[in-house]
This record gives sequence, structure tokens and C-alpha cells, in this order.
Amino acid sequence: VPAVRSLIAGNWKMNGLKAASSELDAILEGAAQLSSGVDLLVCPPATLIAAFADRLAAHANSALPVAIGAQDCHTNAAGAHTGDISAEMLADAGARTIIVGHSERRADHAETDAIVRTKAQAVWRAGLVAIVCVGETQGERNAGHTLDVVAGQLAGSLPDGATAANLVVAYEPVWAIGTGMTPTAADVEEVHGFIRQTLTQRFNGEGERMRLLYGGSVKPSNASELMAVPHVNGALVGGASLKASDFLAIAAGC
Ligand code: PEP
Repeated sequence: VPAVRSLIAGNWKMNGLKAASSELDAILEGAAQLSSGVDLLVCPPATLIAAFADRLAAHANSALPVAIGAQDCHTNAAGAHTGDISAEMLADAGARTIIVGHSERRADHAETDAIVRTKAQAVWRAGLVAIVCVGETQGERNAGHTLDVVAGQLAGSLPDGATAANLVVAYEPVWAIGTGMTPTAADVEEVHGFIRQTLTQRFNGEGERMRLLYGGSVKPSNASELMAVPHVNGALVGGASLKASDFLAIAAGC
């Protein structure tokens, strides 16, 4: 099994005003203390990306393993799309990575696998890394359809040309997001093993090295158990990423 650097990504969702830059400062201070095998990504709301990227760039320690990311992008580079933001604009603001296909985007904005795939291509067009999210609902899990659902999302949402450098896959069971519920380590191992096999079949050696994140109610108390599961290369963290101390404690657990 090739060694893969861990990634702990924080998805702030629609939370954070300018005053939250003090949380970023605390993350930057704590990041210097982390083991060298882990990268951090902070995805604040789009309104804060430029300020956060500037703050990171101005930090005295320029070698910090921290990057700023975004939570979504439009498929086009520019044009008549009121209220939307393109991957190129996010790159220009200082984002290095963009999450696409989060279950909240899929549910609240009716994003299909085809739209998510086109967004991932838009991320690459802008020269950034795409984090593509997949995961089953509670009903799908209860019906025993988890692997079928994840297989369909991977086939439909991942563009051809994915590499270990341009793509990260996040497995986020919808029923575990923001609920405090998590799958067992054995359930996570089953799904991550299946995702690894699927990616390796389609993308060969690149698929073996792509980072696979688990997401859904990760917190300091459960992070080390979840991060120790085979083929889990980090976490996508929602609620617990809003507090620097929790986010850093999760990163320290990998
Ligand atoms: C998420 O929405 O990506 C997520 C994992 O949320 P939480 O950690 O709050 O469950």
C-alpha cells in the first residue's frame, strides 16, 4: 500500500464573519506543532477566502502545511450567472482546492452527478484540486444499497483524467453529517476499501495514491479511531472545524 499524506479539511459551510480570522490565526499557530505527515485545508465561506489566503501568505512561517479552499464553484469560468462564483475567481482569491458535490449542494441545489463531474472539470481548468463528495442516505444504507450508491456516484461524478494530485474523494454518509452519528470502523473500512478498488480499476496507479477522506461527525474523540481505518487518508470535518482547538486535535489524531 503506497504511503499517502493525510489531509484534514475543514468545511465551514455558511459560517464565519471577518472576526473569524482569529480562528485561522489559531490554526496557523497550531499547525507548526503537527507531525509532518498531515496537511490542513480550511474552506471558509467565499467571502473570507481572499482575506484568509492573504493572512496565510503573510504568516512568518511560510512552510506551514496549510492551504485555503472553497466549498463550491460554478461550471463556467465567467458570464451571466448572477450570484455564482467561478473556479477561476476562487483561484484568483487564493483558494487551492474546491469541494464539489457536497451532499448539501446535491440536496439544496439539485446537483446531479453530471453537474458535479462538470464542476470537478471546472476546478481542474482553474488549476486547482477537486474534493468530490459521495455518500449514501440512511434509507439507502438500511436497504443495503450503500456500495451501489457510492459506485454510481463515483462513476458519474468523477471525470476521466483524475490523478492523485488533482483529485481527493470524500466519503460522507449523509446520515452521519451533523448528526453526531458515525458508521462503525468496520463499515468505514468496507466502503473505503470498495472506493479504493473502484478508483484503482479506473485510474490504475493514480487511484492507488488518491487521498480518500472520511466525513460525517468527526470530532476529537472519534478521530483517531476513524483515521486508523485502512484507506482512510484524512477527514472532511464540518462542525468541529469551526473551533481551531477541535480542528487541531483532530489533525493531531492522524
Ligand atoms: C460535512 O458537512 O462535510 C461534515 C462532515 O459535517 P460534520 O462534520 O458537521 O458532520
